[in-house]
Amino acid sequence: MYENRQYQAEAIDFLSKSLQDHYGVALESPTGSGKTIMALRSALKYASERKLKILYLVRTNSQEEQVIRELRAISSAVKVRAIPMQGRVNMCILYHMIEDLHEINAESLAKFCNMKKREVMAGNESACPYFNFKIRSDETKRYIFEELPTAEEFYEYGERNNVCPYESMKAALPDAEIVVAPYAYFLNRNIAEKFLSHWGVSRNQLVIILDEAHNLPDIGRSIGSFRISIESLNRADKEAQAYGDPELSQKIHVSDLIEMVRSALQSMVSERCQKGDVRIRFQEFMEYMMIMNKKGEREIRSLFNYLYLFGEYVENEKEKVGKVPFSYCSSVAARLSAFSDQDEERYAAILSPEESGYIQAACLDPSGILEVLKESKTIHMSGTLDPFDFYSDITGFEIPFKKIGEIFPPENRYIAYYDGVSSKYDTLDERELDKMATIIEEIVTKVRRNTIVYFPSYSLMDKVENRVSFDHMKEYRGIDQKELYAMLRKFRKGNGTIFAVSGGRLSEGINFPGNELEMIILAGLPFPRPDALNRSLFDYYERKYGKGWEYSVVYPTAIKIRQEIGRLIRSADDVGACVILDKRSGQFKRFIPDLRKTSDPASDIYNFFSSLKTGEKYSA
Ligand code: SF4
Ligand code: CA
Repeated sequence: MYENRQYQAEAIDFLSKSLQDHYGVALESPTGSGKTIMALRSALKYASERKLKILYLVRTNSQEEQVIRELRAISSAVKVRAIPMQGRVNMCILYHMIEDLHEINAESLAKFCNMKKREVMAGNESACPYFNFKIRSDETKRYIFEELPTAEEFYEYGERNNVCPYESMKAALPDAEIVVAPYAYFLNRNIAEKFLSHWGVSRNQLVIILDEAHNLPDIGRSIGSFRISIESLNRADKEAQAYGDPELSQKIHVSDLIEMVRSALQSMVSERCQKGDVRIRFQEFMEYMMIMNKKGEREIRSLFNYLYLFGEYVENEKEKVGKVPFSYCSSVAARLSAFSDQDEERYAAILSPEESGYIQAACLDPSGILEVLKESKTIHMSGTLDPFDFYSDITGFEIPFKKIGEIFPPENRYIAYYDGVSSKYDTLDERELDKMATIIEEIVTKVRRNTIVYFPSYSLMDKVENRVSFDHMKEYRGIDQKELYAMLRKFRKGNGTIFAVSGGRLSEGINFPGNELEMIILAGLPFPRPDALNRSLFDYYERKYGKGWEYSVVYPTAIKIRQEIGRLIRSADDVGACVILDKRSGQFKRFIPDLRKTSDPASDIYNFFSSLKTGEKYSA
């Protein structure tokens, strides 16, 4: 029925044509419409005529898998030479065997690898058993280009066959037409320059596909942000002790300086963070340091410089004995120096009591970080980019945009909101929680279909959980990959309910075809937490566009809701129902045209499922 996908041909045409006159183009297309294939086909169409290469950027492993799967399908008809690429942090087998450092960076692993390779070339093959002739062998190349492995599969192949996956990928790069890589890898400028030179491609010879592009604002912000935490100070302290804790200047030893920083941070947290995290001025941290230690700014800054130099000494010492030349001291010193120099306009200094305390330089405006992508042609793909003005303002990409509307029969989905409860933070008392739990229990036990209940926060999830009595599984805080997958396997098999968190690992990127998922309950609107960072975003967009509320609250929430609804329907004969339990939901009708109001969600959803023509197929 949907074989003749007319809209796909039109979209491919629109994308490849738009690239002729613009540096980028964007497409919103619903889940199940073949986004990956449309992106690849239009990029191939545009690139092949001009001898360009294609870079496909993804955020998660499951997105990477999806792309690789499509590439394999394409490749069975027309051969495409594609490879996955990731940094040594993920792909260096030797590093994973001998060490496990926190906060490790690519630069120190590059040094470590160069040192091992030099030793091997000087005749000591055991320095790195994975660096050998197999890296350039026909067998390895055949494996890469014939099997099209994911990065994870290639890592396992490297372990089994004693060959370095990173170096093998690098050796195969010049032959690749398409590379699939994580955003974080390519948005690190130093890494990207090296990667492009190995590939033999300059930025203007690239077509870049940005997968799940609605995440671009957050991806840019997180790449532009950094933290100094009590934990990283503790690690630096331990390192200082292990390397002799020398005097930096005038009776101040390395550990004394670290203690000065730590106690300044701790007293700030205990004085200022009684009600959670707060925004401070960047300079305030320095002021605390100055007052508590009776020292001038210049003196403190030069102590940070000495700390950095001590870290370099540690790196050299580590290198001498064959370890990864990485130092917690130099890493923390670099961040301390950078912290006081941040621009107050586009960054916010956040002080937080969480994770035993940290200060963060939080990037508010990601457009500067993303700017470099404009040197290539970019294709922005997502199920949720509309309203495009918002995306455009925040990312800085003013490019043509097309939206493919719903492609599946509208009568197959039922979307409503219930106005009998509110998850509004300041009215969420015991009575409201009881109401919330009662209505969830009523819906789940009456409808009895595979259901995910999304909560705006773990704490609301826990409170509601204590009030319900039906069987369910739970994406609890810190659940590990293995348990999550085990839970999903169980869920996919039968009629069950999962409690999950909005914006968590079950809200994007995971597919539930057919009746693996039939109902979604949003237990409250997934508004961003009113924490210091989100308040800073509000202020920033209020100042910049006069749209603080829209840009920091309404649009991000609409995207989350639409992403979660997108989990429901994956194909033409798929059905699903969603109910949002919050009386404030009416304002989202402009993003979700078929959103209606219900005062009895359990019966309405029950009736929706019983009235379906395909009823016998879906009956329990
Ligand atoms: Fe690691 Fe590969 Fe370098 Fe060996 S050759 S150190 S395994 S990246
Ligand atoms: Ca479904």
